[in-house]
Amino acid sequence: MMKATITEIFSSIQGEGLYVGTKQVFVRFGGCQAACCWCDTPAQYQKVKKYTIEDVFKKIFVLRSGCHSVSLTGGEPLLQSDFIKELLPYIKKMRLKTYLETNGILYQELQKIIKNIDIVSMDFKLPSSTKSKAYWKEHKEFLKIARTKKVFVKAVISKDTQVKDVRKAISIIDAIDQRIPFILQPNYKENVLALKKCLEYHQMCQKTLTNVRIIPQVHKILKIR
Ligand code: SF4
Repeated sequence: MMKATITEIFSSIQGEGLYVGTKQVFVRFGGCQAACCWCDTPAQYQKVKKYTIEDVFKKIFVLRSGCHSVSLTGGEPLLQSDFIKELLPYIKKMRLKTYLETNGILYQELQKIIKNIDIVSMDFKLPSSTKSKAYWKEHKEFLKIARTKKVFVKAVISKDTQVKDVRKAISIIDAIDQRIPFILQPNYKENVLALKKCLEYHQMCQKTLTNVRIIPQVHKILKIR
């Protein structure tokens, strides 16, 4: 029987991106292959449990009241794409939308499940923000697949984010569709300094892209999950 490594399943409001304020059931998968310097999830990996499809279905069923969608989040959910592929039809049967929150790297895994995904919240990992490696090729391939559904791109902006990384992100989005929403998310640990950078880059992005927004992590401000 297929099992997934999951840290928690709960309902709350979405705190990031274009669907901020939307009530969702969150299924948080354990594990991630990226290494962002601000990541707060490694500690949660130690609390993971194994769930069957039936376990997850039952939890979502109990929590689903008033929810718009089920957020498959992490960690990186696409590391467990085979499990997600099996799970998605059950979520659809509950008449809930499927919302994928992903680091935007594993495009081959995305291809396996995209048919049953409604919304993709995709990160661009800017190396000067994450202090980690670049994934430009992966992000480009990923966005090509994701754009067949509702998609928006989100990038964390810190005081160290370099203009060349933002330019590269703009060029990838522009080459695919300049109307894809691009969200600049100020690093919550830096507040004013990160917001200043966001305002600077917002102006630059708007010269090419048609839907650019600055949206902070509302759940961090409200101190909720
Ligand atoms: S992609 Fe998300 S879960 Fe993975 S290291 Fe970065 S912040 Fe952490």
